[in-house]
Amino acid sequence: MATVRLTGATKAFGPVEVLKGIDLDIADGEFVVFVGPSGCGKSTLLRSIAGLETLTSGSIEIDGRQVDDVSPSARGIAMVFQSYALYPHMSVRENMGFALKLAGRSKAEIADAVTAAARTLDIEHLLDRWPKELSGGQRQRVAIGRAIVRQPKVFLFDEPLSNLDAALRVRMRYEFASLHRALGTTMIYVTHDQVEAMTLADRIVVLNGGVIEQVGTPGQLYAAPDTLFVAGFIGAPT
Ligand code: ADP
Ligand code: MG
Repeated sequence: MATVRLTGATKAFGPVEVLKGIDLDIADGEFVVFVGPSGCGKSTLLRSIAGLETLTSGSIEIDGRQVDDVSPSARGIAMVFQSYALYPHMSVRENMGFALKLAGRSKAEIADAVTAAARTLDIEHLLDRWPKELSGGQRQRVAIGRAIVRQPKVFLFDEPLSNLDAALRVRMRYEFASLHRALGTTMIYVTHDQVEAMTLADRIVVLNGGVIEQVGTPGQLYAAPDTLFVAGFIGAPT
């Protein structure tokens, strides 16, 4: 069964159509990477799945349920952005537990969930620090930790590494891969970095001007790009 199903997903801002009828099924547990040039609609598509944008037409299902009228917090998704947006006045522990606190979970439940997520991400030693005391990579790990504690059905990552330096980006790339192996949760990941896409993806979705140019495994796109655009973008020899 598809965890995420997009049917004719269309989004316009005023007269400008940014998503032009996207059809896509994402399987349970799949790691799908959206790539494409700046402005092609990657973030808008992700934000639409998250419920932060309302489609102009078309429909989105998550885990078999049509969610077009469901609020972001009730969709069973967790989103991590490129800017970490931790709460500066809360410790790492409080940052990670905050969503569960809002959801009315007990202190013991929150403590267990935060500890487990911190262990997964190897940030247990940071739990009593403040965001301003953390490096960029540590902050991003906390942001991911905040998403994990909610046990979402789907993780959405919008260029989560683009604010990090090159060496750290490479290291964190492997952390996303091992996180996916550890949790087995469906992940949708946006990047404009081809290497990141090739390394992480079960399937890559190439977007261009609000339409899907091609969908396939990294190997398929590399070996048999449908268009010059895909060839250029994925970097296959021509
Ligand atoms: P990407 O993430 O692929 O770089 P975006 O989804 O952010 O692209 O943006 C796609 C297009 O939609 C861009 O031309 C952008 O300017 C436009 N856009 C995005 N959000 C809004 C908005 N809230 N209002 C008007 N235009 C928007
Ligand atoms: Mg974007």
